[in-house]
Amino acid sequence: MNFISDIHFRKQALLKLLHAVQMHEEAIIKALYDDFKKPAFETVVTETAYTLAELSHTIKNIHKWAKPQTVLPSFLNFPSTDYIYKEPYGKVLIIAPWNYPFQLVMSPLIAALAAGNQVVVKPSELTPNTSQIIAKIISETFDKNHVECVLGGVETAQQLLAQRWNYIFFTGSPAVGKIVAQAAAENLTPVTLELGGKNPCIVDENVNLKLAAKRIVWGKFINAGQTCIAPDYILAHQSIKSELIRFLIDEITLAYGDNPEASPDFARIINAKNHQRLVSLLENETVIFGGKSNPEDCYLSPTLLDEPNLDSPVMRGEIFGPILPVLSYETETDLERIIGLYEKPLSLYIFSKNSQFAEKMIRRFSFGGGCVNDTVIHFANKRLPFGGVGQSGMGAYHGKRSFDTFSHLKPIVKKANWLDIPFRYAPYQGKLLLIKKIMKWFS
Ligand code: NAD
Repeated sequence: MNFISDIHFRKQALLKLLHAVQMHEEAIIKALYDDFKKPAFETVVTETAYTLAELSHTIKNIHKWAKPQTVLPSFLNFPSTDYIYKEPYGKVLIIAPWNYPFQLVMSPLIAALAAGNQVVVKPSELTPNTSQIIAKIISETFDKNHVECVLGGVETAQQLLAQRWNYIFFTGSPAVGKIVAQAAAENLTPVTLELGGKNPCIVDENVNLKLAAKRIVWGKFINAGQTCIAPDYILAHQSIKSELIRFLIDEITLAYGDNPEASPDFARIINAKNHQRLVSLLENETVIFGGKSNPEDCYLSPTLLDEPNLDSPVMRGEIFGPILPVLSYETETDLERIIGLYEKPLSLYIFSKNSQFAEKMIRRFSFGGGCVNDTVIHFANKRLPFGGVGQSGMGAYHGKRSFDTFSHLKPIVKKANWLDIPFRYAPYQGKLLLIKKIMKWFS
């Protein structure tokens, strides 16, 4: 048996994980600092406190989520009582990226355990310190047959993908997402793919510019822009673009000082390869702010670009770093033309006081999720499903949805024996007209 039916046992496992994360919080903060100088504040908000909150919420609700849920029966089956049973999938594989290296292992792990699965996690090889502490927490907390942490890089991930799983939960790039989907298809294994994209941030003319700039700067430069839901590029109405840029510069300076390299609140790029990739995106572009780099420390300052060409390297793919292109638009047709050039993004942000305009944008474009008058924060509400659409992913999680993601939802009708309406049984002669009417009444 590779799943755990005993809810009490599952709850105990989550409690043990909660205590382990609490015990190791300082070591986790240090590991993330050692990996890419992630500021302690950001680590607490986006990694440890986030994980602890997810654990508490799941522990509180596990009995409710795990028990069979009753639903209204169909009159056609009268008399019956109908249920959705939550069946663990069995053996689950979780593969995680490096950018939120603790949380993106822990959050799906919590749900997979709550749902009663046996789990193998593969953290990213690009954050060795964080991956080590994850491995330590897991080996100290769980029996290897229940949860195992496998450390390694691409080859290790490929070896794991070659095995047969009952569910695969992958967070990472769309390119690797395709590899994962192909491997899963081999055994018809269900998958969740949490991927990335090029997230537009529309700033309408009718807007509180100072506040918009503050919220964009926070969402873009947290984690040094290495966030799947960070605004990738700004589409500013041409009438406010220059003023918006002035506010953006003010807010960057307010947050990180005149020299962000000396700020304790600004993280580094994950490695030399990504640093080089980002620096090369600046070639032939108009840098209106920032653009300072120190390859020795994988540092790239918060950078604003003015009107890059839509087919330039910086606009072709997800930036995933502290570079923010500012483009202008005049009409909604411009927005459609520019946003339509790219695959469906993971997020889209709209800054506007005009609620009709915001509503129109929400309905006009297809994207994973987003905010009106803010960035990134939709991630934090566990009552909202989090996931992409199209190339930015498939499936969603967070809160109860995470539990359901790792459960097969098994419908069961329990029929009573005290009555057996004979109508459905053959011979059918003379019943056709009546059954059509009955089906219509109850549809
Ligand atoms: P990545 O796809 O390169 O790697 C993710 C994981 O896949 C790692 O554990 C890695 O070892 C493994 N991997 C890499 N190449 C592989 C291969 N050929 N075969 C099998 N496994 C392989 O992603 P990354 O660089 O770690 O993370 C950045 C990407 O993740 C960005 O695109 C970002 O938008 C996305 N992301 C999405 C979310 C989300 O919730 N939707 C969250 C964070 C990051």
